[in-house]
Amino acid sequence: MNAIVGMTAIATAHIDDRKQVENCLRKITLSSKHLLGLINDVLDMSKIESGKIELDDQVFELPEVLDRIHSMFAQKACDADVDFTISHKDISVHTLIGDELRISQILVNIISNALKFTPKGGSVTLEVREKELSDDTANIEFIITDSGIGISEEFQKRIFEPFEQAQASTVKQYGGTGLGLAISSKFAKMMGGNIQLQSKLNEGSRFIVNIPLKRPPVEAVIPVI
Ligand code: ADP
Repeated sequence: MNAIVGMTAIATAHIDDRKQVENCLRKITLSSKHLLGLINDVLDMSKIESGKIELDDQVFELPEVLDRIHSMFAQKACDADVDFTISHKDISVHTLIGDELRISQILVNIISNALKFTPKGGSVTLEVREKELSDDTANIEFIITDSGIGISEEFQKRIFEPFEQAQASTVKQYGGTGLGLAISSKFAKMMGGNIQLQSKLNEGSRFIVNIPLKRPPVEAVIPVI
């Protein structure tokens, strides 16, 4: 907020200097996005902690969620020169019941982090697996692997706590609020699932998101034409 107020004052004082104003507007945009992310994360966190968030169980198509995630990140990964792939070839159930929005939020947060902390030339993959399957449930595992900077053993113990970031310099270098994984882990738990982490400093990270989902009765499944 300080940056927004300060940059607005500088731009106003140099209103005829186009370059200076453009520079200020760029910084105002960055700070506004950071602030918006922070407000949304803090609101989500406080809603979760006061028990005000209810999961919305709806029928959804898993391949559609994965397609949306692919289109959301493909360009970003390409710009960052990071190879981004999604694989779900062994999935036999496509129609599931669960909170599609919150599942997407978990995946988007973990993939955003993976891209953010993976340097040029690296890779990020999302692999979707079917763990256990019965007539009315499917345990789905989303595995996000990156070849990025990795996470120390010491930090792994705190990573799912609110406002934790690996270093004080993380905000300056990479942005973020330190709330994304705390929120993701709470959502996964609310769904009866969990998030596990395997990582080694300088060798990349793997986040394993396990979510038990319901399957609709056969007659409710929309046939694929
Ligand atoms: P944010 O990304 O907003 O800082 P998160 O809760 O999503 O908050 O992540 C917390 C911290 O965990 C990050 O700031 C970073 O230090 C570390 N982190 C998360 N994902 C990764 C990753 N894939 N590789 C390396 N560090 C990571």
